Amino acid sequence: MLIVMKPDATPADVARVVRVIGTMGYEARPMPGRQRTTVGLVGNDGRVDSSQVAGLPGVAEVIHVSKPYKQVSREWQAEPTRVALPDGSTVGGREIVVMAGPCSVESEEQILLAARQVKAAGATVLRAGAYKPRSSPYSFQGMGAKGLQLLAQARAETGLLLVTEAMDTQGLETVAEVADIIQIGARSMQNYPLLKECGRLRKPILLKRGLSATIVELLLSAEYILSEGNPNVILCERGIRSFDTATRNLFDLAAIAVVHGLSHLPIIADPSHGTGHRDMVPAMARAAVAAGADGLLIEVHPNPERALSDGAQSMYPEDFVRMMREVVAIADVIGRSVATPVGSTV
Ligand code: PEP
Ligand code: MN
Repeated sequence: MLIVMKPDATPADVARVVRVIGTMGYEARPMPGRQRTTVGLVGNDGRVDSSQVAGLPGVAEVIHVSKPYKQVSREWQAEPTRVALPDGSTVGGREIVVMAGPCSVESEEQILLAARQVKAAGATVLRAGAYKPRSSPYSFQGMGAKGLQLLAQARAETGLLLVTEAMDTQGLETVAEVADIIQIGARSMQNYPLLKECGRLRKPILLKRGLSATIVELLLSAEYILSEGNPNVILCERGIRSFDTATRNLFDLAAIAVVHGLSHLPIIADPSHGTGHRDMVPAMARAAVAAGADGLLIEVHPNPERALSDGAQSMYPEDFVRMMREVVAIADVIGRSVATPVGSTV
């Protein structure tokens, strides 16, 4: 339930609404807006008697949020959420943030070289997994803590931000100590204990769409994080299962437009996992930006033939340079720009 205050409602009016909601046994979240304040009632409001608040001074209207997800909905917040990153950039505003790097951290040499290459091409965030959720237990599982240490080294050298995956609640804190953005992978999208723990942090969370998840399920998973108090959620379309084997997954471009209609949260696109083939990545990256994606997650490897995971979809660094130029041009056409590395003049 959302209580919309009148534009001239006083702080005392808002405080009274918060108090009354508290006495009803619910948590109230006041959200000051440019024109007026709204107060959200958090929790299952199915049986709440709204007449108790509807008549209070300063209350303009009471809205029952019709969607199963509440706080992530456009009804709850009309303005797009801008997730602030430590370098001063934001995801969800005018800028498009490009996160790029190998699927996994494999060695000091590999990650440092990859970091320099993606930075030179214009990315501002380095991606790479230290803990890898692999379909087979016999595949490379990631370097673990050593991988995180190497990522921190790459950040220290290049100034790039880091996005890396946390797979479980036990490992979340360790990842959170190093990551600037914590990735929750497709296979973990419905790991509700993990989502709740992410909600107790304040760091940005990159929530990837599950392999067979509907858009509503993605939004409900985001709701878990917001409902625990962390509003810094970035959604990610990374393709879903389909009957067609021409691509690794079916990259759901329309999900970007759907999410922007239903939610105020930013959504970025991962055409690497979305297609599974490096040759298809630039076309889908351009399309995603044209469709309104707030960022891109792209796998780039200094030597894709030798990659320990996802080599076939990892771009050659020189191709990534070209793709970045195209993406910058598309962004310009739709009145946006690609976030540039700190201190860069490009
Ligand atoms: C990844 O980003 O390397 C990854 C494992 O992605 P997903 O969870 O989307 O499969
Ligand atoms: Mn990968």
